[in-house]
Amino acid sequence: KEELNIIQGALELRTKVVEDVLTPLGDCFMLRSGAVLDFSTVSEILRSGYTRIPVYEGDDRANIVDILFVKDLAFVDPDDCTPLQTVTRFYHRPLHCVFNDTRLDAVLEEFKKAGKSHLAIVQRVNNEGEGDPFYEVMGIVTLEDIIEEIIKSEILDE
Ligand code: ADP
Repeated sequence: KEELNIIQGALELRTKVVEDVLTPLGDCFMLRSGAVLDFSTVSEILRSGYTRIPVYEGDDRANIVDILFVKDLAFVDPDDCTPLQTVTRFYHRPLHCVFNDTRLDAVLEEFKKAGKSHLAIVQRVNNEGEGDPFYEVMGIVTLEDIIEEIIKSEILDE
């Protein structure tokens, strides 16, 4: 029975898309690119509990320019008040993007490829309104969000 539920969850990846499972931008814990890694910022990062933190430039949270891995803070001394950019420029973590209408089985394949981070920025094409269509950032999706879909029917059943 359990196995059947999991198989069913896995099959449903073909009928679901990124938009169904993403974490909306408004719920994302992020940092400004101009942030300083002082004691209060580092504490806030650690308190958030996340391992990867999108970094945005300017006032627009959709303008994601980097990802900070919490492990990148290993050599950072809060007393030095290191600019966040010093760390992000050093590690230069790649940004991966997916479209909102990508099927979950396709995203899972992407995440399985070696060397890829298991977090992607979700974009959509906004062609509402008068102007030219433009890319709009909707949120983030991680491997965890997909695994959760696979085992969800399992959890609901308990
Ligand atoms: P972590 O390794 O940081 O715990 P996971 O990849 O296990 O993150 O994802 C757990 C959940 O948290 C997922 O729903 C994912 O979309 C969400 N998530 C991951 N990073 C962040 C973040 N920086 N801010 C908000 N939510 C996040």
